[in-house]
Amino acid sequence: MKKHPVVLIPGDGIGPEVTVAVQRVLAEAGAPIEWVPCRAGLAALEAGQDVLPQETLDAIERHRFALKGPCTTPVGEGFTSVNVQLRKRLTLYAAVRPVRNLAGVQTRFDGVDLVIIRENTEGLYSGVENQVTDDVVMSMKVATQTAVNRIAHWSFRFATRRRRRKITVFHKANIMKMTDGLFLRAARKVHQYEYPNIEYQEMIIDAGCMKLVQDPTQFDVLLLENLYGDVVSDLCAGLVGGLGVVPGANYGDRHAVFEAVHGSAPDIAGKGVANPLALLMSAVMMLNHMADELGDDGLLQCAERIKGGYNRALQDGEKTRDLGGTLGTEAFADAVISRLG
Ligand code: ATP
Repeated sequence: MKKHPVVLIPGDGIGPEVTVAVQRVLAEAGAPIEWVPCRAGLAALEAGQDVLPQETLDAIERHRFALKGPCTTPVGEGFTSVNVQLRKRLTLYAAVRPVRNLAGVQTRFDGVDLVIIRENTEGLYSGVENQVTDDVVMSMKVATQTAVNRIAHWSFRFATRRRRRKITVFHKANIMKMTDGLFLRAARKVHQYEYPNIEYQEMIIDAGCMKLVQDPTQFDVLLLENLYGDVVSDLCAGLVGGLGVVPGANYGDRHAVFEAVHGSAPDIAGKGVANPLALLMSAVMMLNHMADELGDDGLLQCAERIKGGYNRALQDGEKTRDLGGTLGTEAFADAVISRLG
């Protein structure tokens, strides 16, 4: 069977431990994948490399697909987020986070089935900050016509392909009339002229957050600029069991990097208790995407086996501590492996 190369970046904090667990599940499921290990983040610094080594970027350029653990970002000082740098350098402009209830994970709501699409390259993540005077610092929110058009087109195309019925844009264009206004107008126009068949809705983000926690089932696809997408992703994770169960993908026109929504969770790193499910689900997204791109049904079948395995494990009550269970990272991976079918 032909094996497809995939770049693997274990990352920092809980990254390496969840990555090992996920690699084990994929191997047992017979995934036709050959890992190409690369470093980024603190792991790269400790090995004497740049925080985002050129050879890691080159490897993703070459192989197109990567599975990535979280990289630690220093708070309030130090280097720019590696996660953000990677998305920008490879123009992975669309972040996709599916948020669904899982059988066996009891939460306040049933029937949650949302997809969050986050613009990944600009907004307040432009990283342009200035010291204006001794008293004043400033952060620049950037919106470009190119990027807002790009994400609007991508989102409607995605909704059409996945047979989703509605896109809701969360915005604050009543205050940020220029930047959020541009974002909104692009989405509105793409809907009006190209995808009138998809229902379209605009909502001021504060009201949108209230509605999300009142009844998330009223939403289908959410389209947000960068920072709103970051915040709302964690909010939505909380609706279905937390950060341990929400996967993610960062798509560009040619490349895709798959990573969980969660960060490096330093509070539980090295203890063997982190939930590997979010990264495992990200790997399933990756296998499905690669199957589409490469036309290899073996990848698709493998994704289905893994999905079946983790669903059966959760239904049998096999859970990590964040979901109210007692299993550690490796024990949960074992529970999935023994149910691959
Ligand atoms: P970042 O700022 O890097 O995006 P974050 O604010 O999303 O990170 P995380 O580090 O992802 O924060 O996680 C917040 C908390 O959620 C962690 O400290 C941890 O307790 C919990 N958590 C996150 N991921 C997991 C996981 N995979 N398994 C168990 N608990 C987790």
